[in-house]
Amino acid sequence: MRAETTIAVRDPRLEPVAAKVRAGERLDGADALALYETGDLLGLGALADAANRRTNGGRVFFSANQHINPTNVCVLRNTCVFCSFARMPKEDGAYTRTLDEVYAEAAAAAGNPTREFHIVGGLHPKLRLAYYTDMIRGLKERHPDVRVKALTAVEIAHLARIERTTTRDVLERLKAAGLDTLPGGGAEVFGTAVRATIADRKLVADDWLRVHREAHQMGIRTNCTMLYGHVETASDRVEHLQMLRDLQDETGGFLTYIPLAYHPDHNELGEELGRTGTATTGYEDLKNIAVGRLFLDNIPHVKTHWPMVTPFISQIALHFGCDDVEGTVVYERVYHEAGAHTPMMLSYGEIVRLIRAAGREPAASAASVSQVTTRSLRAARTDSTRPSFEPKWRQRGCLGQPVAVHTSAMPMP
Ligand code: SF4
Repeated sequence: MRAETTIAVRDPRLEPVAAKVRAGERLDGADALALYETGDLLGLGALADAANRRTNGGRVFFSANQHINPTNVCVLRNTCVFCSFARMPKEDGAYTRTLDEVYAEAAAAAGNPTREFHIVGGLHPKLRLAYYTDMIRGLKERHPDVRVKALTAVEIAHLARIERTTTRDVLERLKAAGLDTLPGGGAEVFGTAVRATIADRKLVADDWLRVHREAHQMGIRTNCTMLYGHVETASDRVEHLQMLRDLQDETGGFLTYIPLAYHPDHNELGEELGRTGTATTGYEDLKNIAVGRLFLDNIPHVKTHWPMVTPFISQIALHFGCDDVEGTVVYERVYHEAGAHTPMMLSYGEIVRLIRAAGREPAASAASVSQVTTRSLRAARTDSTRPSFEPKWRQRGCLGQPVAVHTSAMPMP
C-alpha cells in the first residue's frame, strides 16, 4: 500500500482534492482555491508532503550560493510600492558597484564551497548590457567552477530597451558571456489589478512569461516566483500559478518554484496597509509552499526562501511539500532592507544540519558539485590564508558525513 492512501484530511472540501492527490491526478483551479481557503493546514501539508515524496523522496536540495546585487538604482523606484531595496540615482543609500568591486565581493567564493553566483539588482538608467556581459565573463574567469544565475526577466527587458534590441538578443549575448540560468524574480502577482496596485510600471505578465519562454527555448533553465501576502486574493494566486503551470506544460524549462513572502517595512505599500513591522504569518508561508507543490505538478522543485520566512519555518516547510532550501546567500540585501530579521547568511554546515534535523537527506543541487563534500569543506577551513564566511561557532557538528549530489536538479545543457 502506498503511503498516500493513508492521508487523512479534516476539511470535507479537501476530500475530492485528496482523492486526486492519492490517484496522482492533476488539480484544477477550483481545487487550488479550496486548498488556499481551507483551515486544515495539517491536512494540506500531508497532501503536499505525499506529492513531494513521490517526486523527490526524502531528498532536499540546496546550493552553496552567493548573492550579488551590483546596483540598487532603479527607474521603477517610485512605482514598485512594495520594494524597499531600490533608490533613485541621487538618493541617500544609492550605490552602483564597479566591476572590480563586484569581483572583490565575489572573492569570498575562493576557498569556500560556493557553486553559484545569484546576481540581481535595480533597473539602472545608464548601465549597458556590456557591464553585465563583462561581469559574467570576469566572474567565470576568476571562478570557473561557479555557475552564474543572473538577471530577472524584468532586468532583461530593461536592457533590451536600453540597447534598442530584443530580449532574445540580450539573452543570447548573456549566454555567450557565460550565463547559466535565470532567477525567477519580478513575477510578483500576474493579475492586472494587483500589478496596477503594487507595481504599476513593471513588465506585464505576458512579457515576463515571454522572456522565460525565450530562455527555455535557448536551453537556459529558469526559476519562477510569486510574491504573496500583500493585496492579492486567493483567486489572484491561483490565476498566477495557472499561468506558470501553462508555460511549464509548453516548455518544461522551469526548474524551481519559489513563493516569496512580502515584507512591509520601509516601503510605501506597507505604510498604506498599516502593516509595518508585520511580515507574513507562518501559517501563510506553509500554505503557499504546500499549494505550490500540489498545483505545480510539472515543476520539479519547490523552494523555501529562509531569508524571508526564517530558517525555522523553512525547516518545517520540508514537511509541507518543499524539497529545496535557499542556499548560503552570504550577504542578503533585498529583504533585509524591507525589515527581515533573519540572518544575512547561513553556512553550508547550518543548512546541512537544518535539513538533517528535519529527518531529510541534504542533496547539493548546483552543477559541478561532486567534490562538495564535508571533506572538501574541512580542507578549505584549514587553509587559514583564505577568507571564510563560516564563523567558527557555526562549524561544529557537520563534518565527516558526505552530502549526496543529485543530478536531477542540474540545469539542462
Ligand atoms: S522591485 Fe525591482 S524593478 Fe521594482 S523598484 Fe525594486 S528593484 Fe526596481
